[in-house]
Parts: sequence; structure tokens; C-alpha cells
Amino acid sequence: MKTRLTKLLGIEHPIVQGGMQWVGLAELASAVSNAGGLGILTGLTQPTPEALLKEIQRCRNMTDKPFAVNLTILPTIKPVPYEEYAQAIVDSGVKIVETAGRNPEPFLPMFKEAGIFVIHKCTSIRHSLKAEKIGCDAVSVDGFECAGHPGEDDVTNMILLPLAARRLSIPFLASGGLGDGKGLAASLAMGADGINMGTRFMVTQEAPIHKRVKQAMVDATELDTALIYRSLRNTARVFKNSIAEQVLEIEGQPGATDFEDIRPLVQGAKGRELFEEGDLDRGIWSAGMIVGLIDDIPTCEELINRIVAEADDIINERLQQLATA
Ligand code: NAD
Repeated sequence: MKTRLTKLLGIEHPIVQGGMQWVGLAELASAVSNAGGLGILTGLTQPTPEALLKEIQRCRNMTDKPFAVNLTILPTIKPVPYEEYAQAIVDSGVKIVETAGRNPEPFLPMFKEAGIFVIHKCTSIRHSLKAEKIGCDAVSVDGFECAGHPGEDDVTNMILLPLAARRLSIPFLASGGLGDGKGLAASLAMGADGINMGTRFMVTQEAPIHKRVKQAMVDATELDTALIYRSLRNTARVFKNSIAEQVLEIEGQPGATDFEDIRPLVQGAKGRELFEEGDLDRGIWSAGMIVGLIDDIPTCEELINRIVAEADDIINERLQQLATA
């Protein structure tokens, strides 16, 4: 399957692994890239820009295929030296960046000067058009189904993707709610140039998280995610564990929510421990509605090959038969 993005990114299959806090380490990114997709290291998972440079080198030792780095610009508990992380990405020689969260415009001149291909993750058409206007090379259109931050508009990919196809000139990925060949075929049909998957790649052999977390997502249904931080206009879709329920209870109390009341429950450091130790109620973790469609823990290669084969079968068999019936 060749699309505008497989050509521009130099990858074999139109499948990209989204940036994920604590999950986007070299083990996962290199496995996705080695399997013909595009793996992504998560910049802020590294404690310092210097550590990010080392992680990029570690990934290079594990794959000779292209991979990218994610830079997410959202509220954080500790201030992040974004400029220094962006400079580390430029210095590393990596040629593809996924930006997410706030407007990436301040970083575009340095990325463009370094010849970096910028994919901005957007949860709305207006942000996608803005990304195109400021010079991003592609966007990842993130529907309401997604894990992490879906924005505040609550528009699903059935609407966002055809709208993106109508209104954007630059290529775009479908992101959110994707994890099988049906999703890939449907995304291509709706005009996307490929898919971006986060949660589905968390439930693979190579994802560097505890097997109990993976099994919880295998066992989960489509009803097992929750939207937290709604009251703070920083909505995030997470796995519905007891901590997410406690956060929702605090947010549901009368009056404005004070982030300080939920900070001890949600701090990223606890999420990291949860992933390492497999204590499912240690903190929160991002998970998308796709958990309802995940029922195994394959290698990245098995997963990617299966998705491409299923999409190929749908396009060349089922749809062909329907079209010629
Ligand atoms: P952190 O420990 O700094 O913060 C924990 C959570 O609280 C994050 O979700 C953050 O957005 C939120 N938060 C922090 N300060 C806030 C405030 N003042 N008001 C409202 N919400 C606030 O975060 P971390 O786990 O170290 O992650 C670092 C960055 O990566 C954060 O910006 C986080 O949102 C982002 N992230 C993105 C995704 C995703 O969608 N791909 C997933 C996980 C984390």
C-alpha cells in the first residue's frame, strides 16, 4: 500500500506509532520501524534533552529504518524546557517530528531549517487548517475515540476524516480508534494517507510496560475508558480504573476544580510506576476506546502484517465484490 505518506516518510506500510508518555522508548519505536511502520520516541519521556539524545542514539542502534520523535506541548506539573528538547531533536539529525498539543509554530523555523518533516497532531479541522497554514508537512487527525487528549469538541473520526479530506491539501493520518485492518481500510476510504495507533501498540510484546497493564487492556471493553480533566479544559481519555473514578468524583463536586486536589492522583511519575510495576491502581494511564477491539498481545511485526493483510483483503476482495456485484 503506497500513499503520499509512505513515500514522504520512506516507510513500507501506512502505519505510524503515536507518541505516548512512558511508552515511546527505543524498544517500541525500533520494533515498529523494523516492521515497516514509523516508530516514534516520546521526547518528554526522557528526563532531559541530553537523555533524549542518548535515547535517539539507542534507537539508531536498534534500527536502520526511519523513526520520529514526539514533542507534546501541554500543561505539565514541572515546567518543560521545550526549546532545549527541540534543539536536541535538531542536533540528533532525526528527520521526522510529531508535535502535539499547543500550536507548534515557535519551533517550526528551527525544524524547517534542519529539513525536518513535521506532523502535527490535531483534534479539530480548524487546528488542522492552521497547521497547514503555518507550514506543517502533514497532520495526524485525532478523533474523539483517541487516548490522551481529544480536545474539547468531541467530534469522531467518521466526521473529522472526510472533512479533512475535503479541506486539507497536505497529507493526513487518521488517529484515534484504530487498531485493525477494518480501521485502516476505512481510513484510506475516508481520504487519509495512513493511520496512527497508540493504544494498540501498547498491547504488543515489545511495548515496555508491565504485562498486567497489557492484559487489562485485552480484557477491557469499549466502555472502559473515562474522560478526566474535562472541568480544566485539558480533557484526557484514560483507562477507567479506581484512580480515574476518584478524579471524576473530585471534578464532579460543586464549584471550580482546583488541579492541586487531583495532582497527587494523576502525576506522571505515578503513571510511570504503574507501567513498571503493573499495579493497575497506582495512577492513571492513557487508553483509547480501541481497547474494546484489542484481544491479543502480538509482536509489532505480527500486528502490522495482520492489519495490512486484512485491509488489503477488504479492499481487493470484499469491496471489489460489492462494486462488481
Ligand atoms: P505531568 O506529571 O506533568 O502531569 C500529569 C497530568 O496532569 C498530565 O495529563 C497533564 O496534562 C495534567 N496537568 C498538569 N498540570 C495541569 C494543570 N495545571 N491543569 C490541568 N492539567 C494539568 O505529566 P506527564 O505524565 O509527565 O506527561 C508530560 C506531558 O505529556 C503532559 O503535558 C501530558 O499531558 C502529556 N501526555 C500526552 C499524552 C498523549 O495524549 N499522547 C499522554 C500522556 C501524557
